[in-house]
Amino acid sequence: LSARGNWHSRRRIGIMGGTFDPIHNGHLVAASEVSWVYDLDEVIFVPTGRPVFKLDKHVTNAEDRYLMTVIATASNPKFTVSRVDIDRPGITYTIDTLRDIRAQHPDAELFFITGADAVAEIMEWKDAERMWDLAHFVAVTRPGYSGPEGAHLPEGKVDTLEIPALAISSTDVRRRAAHDEPVWYLVPDGVVQYIGKHGLYRRRSE
Ligand code: ATP
Ligand code: MG
Repeated sequence: LSARGNWHSRRRIGIMGGTFDPIHNGHLVAASEVSWVYDLDEVIFVPTGRPVFKLDKHVTNAEDRYLMTVIATASNPKFTVSRVDIDRPGITYTIDTLRDIRAQHPDAELFFITGADAVAEIMEWKDAERMWDLAHFVAVTRPGYSGPEGAHLPEGKVDTLEIPALAISSTDVRRRAAHDEPVWYLVPDGVVQYIGKHGLYRRRSE
């Protein structure tokens, strides 16, 4: 599956889905690393609408999460941001994300990038079996989260890629912002400024 240096006839597109509340440097390093190893032409960041696994939690409004994602990815010519999930009403299911991106890029080879912790939940996703036909799945590891070993996954469908360890999570960034602790260098500078300017994560949100 990993294919650097090979000649590819089809455009290769990574899809990095996430709540991005806020986007942080762990997300960016993961996307950059997968892009390099899999020789991708583009990585599309897709902020979720209403994430199915976070229905019980407060999530920052989609437009703020979208704008922070745009700011964080603006300097990388290979990174783009899609509104498909935030513009689709209702709960976000990965199968819908894949179908929408597929419709926009009918000839591309798609690589869905997800954390190893999220992969464990893949089998419970809506229409899980049909997702394997739409994209390759790349599970990226991060420190402190267990890999997909215990998960029940179809053979050869999910690749695991170790990325440089960045023990950053959006949860920790929100907690820091709520306590007026620094978030510099955990998120891109523009995102630090956006959080301050709009007063995001002031208390209550964890
Ligand atoms: P939260 O703490 O709110 O759950 P998060 O940091 O996990 O946020 P998400 O938006 O949920 O961020 O993550 C999107 C994807 O990026 C997930 O698949 C997640 O596993 C992966 N990911 C998040 N942080 C890292 C990191 N530091 N290294 C590698 N992958 C990461
Ligand atoms: Mg998470």
